[in-house]
Parts: sequence; structure tokens; C-alpha cells
Amino acid sequence: MKIFLGPGGNCISAKDRTTLGSFERLVELQLNFQELEFVRKVYLTEKTAQEIGQRAKELGISLTAHAQYAINLCSISKAVVEASKRMILEAARISETVGSNAMAIHSAYYSGQTPEQAIETLKRNFEDILDKMKQEGIKKVKLGVETMAKESQFGTLDEVIKLCRQVDVIPYVDWCHIFVRNNGRIDYAEIFDKLRVLKLDHIYSHFSNSKYSLNSKKFLDAHVPMNSHPPFEPLAKEILKRKVDITIISESPVLEDDSLKMKKTFEKLGFKF
Ligand SMILES: [Zn+2]
Repeated sequence: MKIFLGPGGNCISAKDRTTLGSFERLVELQLNFQELEFVRKVYLTEKTAQEIGQRAKELGISLTAHAQYAINLCSISKAVVEASKRMILEAARISETVGSNAMAIHSAYYSGQTPEQAIETLKRNFEDILDKMKQEGIKKVKLGVETMAKESQFGTLDEVIKLCRQVDVIPYVDWCHIFVRNNGRIDYAEIFDKLRVLKLDHIYSHFSNSKYSLNSKKFLDAHVPMNSHPPFEPLAKEILKRKVDITIISESPVLEDDSLKMKKTFEKLGFKF
């Protein structure tokens, strides 16, 4: 059973705030993972990606990536859809070079489509991207469809699972987004039960906490450091009970600090890293 913990983005406490500097800090902190953020743009060239991938390997750091926020594979604009496909392909290419195992994607807004129509559209568009990846020999990095918080976004857990059964993509489980979309409710056991149908050998996931708004009496899709919304310890317990191979990426504003908190929780429950 393997557990990978680390930040989504470069360590805040690294002396050198570059990706390589962040890796050095991860080693000091004894964390074993980082997600590379291509959310604004793919910031690595082929050459730097090779160097970074090599260094990660030497240091025993596992990697994933996060694709651009501008992606919308269900847009009514054909130009936006084509640009989204190109963005995913570009990010996948560099992810592959760097040795990343998976890539998180905010795949779409419904953009006027029903969830069923959106699944059809996404299936078609992902098939297209996967074909191109195959032609280019990109075969390691898995495309991860993230579970999303907003009602306007494709990506309840059920929708993501449905899509993953029809096309060769995997779920990227954002625990906080699921919690927010269900307005402060999450049942970890139920989620693992639902995922079982996909027979995944590894689960990729994001964890952070959400902010509660006293005004709207709602949990917001705004990340805050770990407090208890949603709680982490029951998730850790469920993972250990089920012996799930998992990556948990901290998307908290204090990034690696919360990864260390997660690590302590697992250790308290008897897990040895
Ligand atoms: Zn995300």
C-alpha cells in the first residue's frame, strides 16, 4: 500500500522558489510528491521538463500535473473546444516528459448541455485527445477528470464515474469540491464504494478545506488551511482500512504544512511511510 503526500505547486517554505528548489525542500520535509501547476500555462519547455523529471526521479519524488484552468470541452464555441483540446495535449506532452503519472483537468462547464449530453460531448472530445496522444507516443500520463464544486461545472462524482466507464480517463477526486457541492456533507466510505466499479490501481486526489460563509450559510469553493471542513482524519482512517493506494495533494494556502499535518495523521493511525 502506497501513500503519496505533497503540495499542489512549489513549496512555500523553499529557499529557492523554483520547481527544483521545491524538490530540495520536499526531501528536507520527507514528503514524496508534488503536483506541477500548469493552471495558467505550461511553464516548462521540453528541455527543462527533462531536467526536472530526472531530478524528481533521483530524489524519489512522484509527480502529477494540473492542466490549464481555461479549458472548457463543452463550450458552445467550437474555437474554445479546439483550443481546450490543444491545451490538454500540450500539458499532457510536457507531463509525459517530466514523468508525471496523471494530470488533473477541469474538463467543462455544462454550457447549456444536460449532464447526459455533456458526458457524450466529453467522451467524443477525450477520445480525440487520446487518439492524438497515442499518435505522439504519450502513454504514461493518465487524463484525470476532476470532481468540481460549482453547479455550473461538469463533475459530480457520479458524472465523473459515468464518463470514466466510457472512455480511457480516470477520476481526479477533489474531496473538498465534493463536500462543497453537497453543501457540507461527505461520506468517504460511500465515495470509495462508488469508485470500486472503475477498478483503479491508484487514486489521485486533492485535499483542502473550504470556507463557511455566515452570510449565505453555505460552504464556499475557497480553499483555507485544514480545520475540519471536511475533516481529514476519517478520510485517512478509511484509506488505511481499505488499503487504498492513493496520492493526496494539498491545495491548501499553506500547501506543504498541511501535507505534513496529513502525514502526522496517518502516522498517528499507525501507518509507516
Ligand atoms: Zn483542480
